Amino acid sequence: MPAKVNLQLSVGPLRDDGYHDLVNVFHAVSLFDEVTATPAGRLTVRVSGESIEGVPTDGDNLAARAARLLAGRTGNVPAVDLHIRKAIPVAGGMAGGSADAAAALVACNELWQAGLERDELVELACELGSDVPFALLGGTAVGLGRGERLTSAMVRGRFHWVFACADGGLSTPAVYAECDRLRSAYEEPVSWPHTSEDLMAALATGDAKALGKALHNDLQPAALTLRGSLRRTLTAGREFGALGSLVSGSGPTCAFLTGSEAHAVDLAVGLSGMGVARSVERAYGPVAGATVL
Ligand code: ATP
Repeated sequence: MPAKVNLQLSVGPLRDDGYHDLVNVFHAVSLFDEVTATPAGRLTVRVSGESIEGVPTDGDNLAARAARLLAGRTGNVPAVDLHIRKAIPVAGGMAGGSADAAAALVACNELWQAGLERDELVELACELGSDVPFALLGGTAVGLGRGERLTSAMVRGRFHWVFACADGGLSTPAVYAECDRLRSAYEEPVSWPHTSEDLMAALATGDAKALGKALHNDLQPAALTLRGSLRRTLTAGREFGALGSLVSGSGPTCAFLTGSEAHAVDLAVGLSGMGVARSVERAYGPVAGATVL
């Protein structure tokens, strides 16, 4: 299941229910977690991968929650072993947990021959979290509301990315809270978010240069306040000629758009040499959402 990067994340005023209205342009990229569902005596979760610190191996894992929700809805017993092979950075702002939840929905639907259609799986995905429906859909999509009202976007061609994965994660609620704090401290007027026309045009024409200019993340100042070292990472990427750079979602992963696969290789080598990240990954997008392998 693919990771996502937010090409645009515009955060509206804080709502009474504690959420924000968002314009969230999701883009699925070729960094994948794999979830294998096998019949078992009870619900178990195993996680493997290089950096899996902080990923729960009990019922709190988002994949386990997805399996229980699907079982409850379809009259099955959630007696399944979920093996998650993680490649998506944990708490990195790339929606790894949501990808695993989407994967578990698709895998268990298959295993139990529950026969739910895509739109029924999307309904369950909405209950699991605002990023889970997109993990099912994949591609590139505009999410409104909390990010869960999705419309696919027109994209021409393929974009090449480099991701700088930081040591340790950032908590999404903490980054939103910091964003609210900064806004009230600086008495910034917070306007209603709109989808960027420049961004949508760049996607539709496959213009990487224009896309690089249009990338935007309202959470970036908050992520940079909480993790000052990301400034150096972003500067390093720009020095290696990135067409655009931004913190992915709530961070701390930094995303760099390049003009070609060869440029992505150069940028990845340059960034690795600078030692500004725990690991540097290359990926392309858009890619499809959760699929059965
Ligand atoms: P988002 O971009 O959606 O805000 P994120 O990429 O920053 O999310 P995740 O990797 O999805 O963050 O994980 C956030 C937290 O969720 C983790 O620190 C962990 O405690 C918990 N979690 C639950 N299930 C999973 C899972 N399958 N994989 C990773 N984290 C999980």
